[in-house]
Amino acid sequence: MTTINDATQAFLAAPPGLLIDGESIPALSGETFESVDPSTEEVIAHLQRARAEDVDAAVRSARRAFEPGSAWRRMTPADRGRVIHRIGDLILENADELAMLEAIDSGKVLSVARSSDVVLTANMFHYMAGWATKTEGHTMPFTMSSPDEYVAYTRSEPVGVVAGIIPWNFPLVMASWKIGPALATGCTIVLKPAEQTPLSALRLGQLVVEAGVPAGVVNILTGYGHEAGAALAAHPGVDKIAFTGSTEVGRLIVGAAVGNLKRVSLELGGKSPNIVFDDADLDIAIPGAAQAIFFHQGQCCNAGSRLFVHRKVYDEVIEGVAEIARGFQVGPVLDPESTMGPLISSEQLERVCGYVRSGQDEGATALTGGNRPQGKGYFLEPTVLADTTGDMKVVREEIFGPVVVAIPFEDPDELVRQANDTPFGLAAGVFTRDLNRAHRTAQLIQAGTVWVNTYGAFDAAIPFGGFKQSGWGREMGREVLDHYIETKSVVIRLS
Ligand code: NAP
Ligand code: MG
Repeated sequence: MTTINDATQAFLAAPPGLLIDGESIPALSGETFESVDPSTEEVIAHLQRARAEDVDAAVRSARRAFEPGSAWRRMTPADRGRVIHRIGDLILENADELAMLEAIDSGKVLSVARSSDVVLTANMFHYMAGWATKTEGHTMPFTMSSPDEYVAYTRSEPVGVVAGIIPWNFPLVMASWKIGPALATGCTIVLKPAEQTPLSALRLGQLVVEAGVPAGVVNILTGYGHEAGAALAAHPGVDKIAFTGSTEVGRLIVGAAVGNLKRVSLELGGKSPNIVFDDADLDIAIPGAAQAIFFHQGQCCNAGSRLFVHRKVYDEVIEGVAEIARGFQVGPVLDPESTMGPLISSEQLERVCGYVRSGQDEGATALTGGNRPQGKGYFLEPTVLADTTGDMKVVREEIFGPVVVAIPFEDPDELVRQANDTPFGLAAGVFTRDLNRAHRTAQLIQAGTVWVNTYGAFDAAIPFGGFKQSGWGREMGREVLDHYIETKSVVIRLS
C-alpha cells in the first residue's frame, strides 16, 4: 500500500479554510463537515461548512477584486498569462501530492490520478495562459453609410464575477475548467467543489495564491449544494454561473439564475452511444469499449454507457469487454495492484446497484459483474449487461457507474436512430476502419464530441459539451471563452 506522506498527513489534519480575499478563514458559523475516503469509508478531513453568509463574503471579495483599478484589472494581459502559466507549472511541481489528495478523496486509483487528472489540469492552465493575450475584438465596416463616416470595433470584456459549481468525479480537472477561462478572460471567481471531494480544490487554491493571482480573484467555498451552492447560484452579485453536475441540479441552477438573469453554462449528464461496426479493428475496439465505460468506475459524464455492436461481431466484442471487466483488480486506490477504485459514496453505490437489479428484473443478463466485493469501501464489480432493449431503464437513464448495456445492430440507419434516441447528447464513440462510415456517422450522431477509434481523448484545446439536455455551451478550447466574455461594440462617428 502506498503510504500518505507527512506533508499530506499535515494537510489532512488541518486543511485550509474557506479561501476568501486571499485568506484561509473559518466559516462564520464555525461549523464543519467531513470528507470520507471511499476506499476505506474513513473520515479523512474536516472542512469548513460555508453557508449563505460566507457566500456573500466570497462574492463581495470577488466583486472588489473585479472593480476598475484593482490589482487584477490593472494587471497586463501578458502578466496575467504568465501567472496562469505558473499555476500549471505549480500543479506539475506538486503533482504527487495533488494526485494523492485526489485519489483518497474521490476514489481514483492513484496512478490514474497522477497520469490523467493532474496532467489534464496542468494542461488546462498552460493552454488557457495563452488566451490571456488573445481575447481580441474586431473592426467592422459600417454597411449602411459611407465607409469613411464611422469607425466601429468590438472589445472583449470579462463578464465579471463567475460562480463555478463542480461535481465529485473529476474535482481537480473540473476546477481548472472553471478557474482557467475565468482567469484568462480577466474575470474573478467563486468556486464551490462538491461536498464529497473538497480537498484538491483547496490545495489548488493555495497554488493559485502562490502563483501570484491577486487576493479575491479566486475564492473557494467548501460546503453543501443546498446551502453554499444554492446561495451562490441565486446571489445577485454573481454575473455568470458555470455548472457541471446532474441534469436535475442543472435545472435548479437555471431557475436560480433567473433573478438577475445570470449568464449560465451547463455541463450535465449523458448516456453516450459507443458504436462498433463489423469492419472495426477489434484489437482497438474491444479495449476502447471497456475503457469508455470503466474509466473511473464509469463515473464520467461522457461514459460510453450504451455499447452498440454490429451483430456479426457482437458476441466477440461483448465477450471481450466482459473479459477485460473480469480482469480488473477492484480495490483501494493506494494499493498499487488496484486497477479500479470504489464508487464515490454509499448512496452512489446503492443507486448503481439499484440500476443493475432493475436491468435484471426487466430481463437483461449480467455477463459479468454486478456484485459487491466483501469488506469496507464502496466497491462494485464492473458489469456488462446483455439482452437489453431500448425501453429498459438501464438503457434510458444515466447510471454513472461501471455498468455498460450492450445492444446489437444490423441496419446503420436504424443504429443512428437508436443512438440518438436519448434526451442526452454529450459524446459518442465510433469504431470502424471505413473512413466514409466514420465521417458519416460523426455527422449524424447528435453529440458534442464524437471520438473515432478512441474514446475519452480530452485536451484543453478541444471544446467539450452537450447537445440537447446534456447542457448549454462548451468547456475548453476557444469556445469556452465566449461564456466568460461580454462583447462591447464601440461605434464612432467621424466629423
Ligand atoms: P449534483 O448534485 O448535480 O452536484 C454537482 C454540484 O452541484 C455539487 O457541487 C453540488 O453540491 C452542487 N449542488 C447540489 N445541489 C445544488 C443546488 N440546489 N444549487 C446549487 N448547487 C447545488 O451531482 P451529484 O449529486 O454529485 O451526482 C448525482 C448525479 O449527477 C450522478 O449520479 C450523475 O448522474 C450526475 N453527475 C454528472 C456529472 C457530470 O460530469 N456531468 C458529474 C457528477 C454527477 P454537493 O456536492 O454538496 O451536493
Ligand atoms: Mg471524499
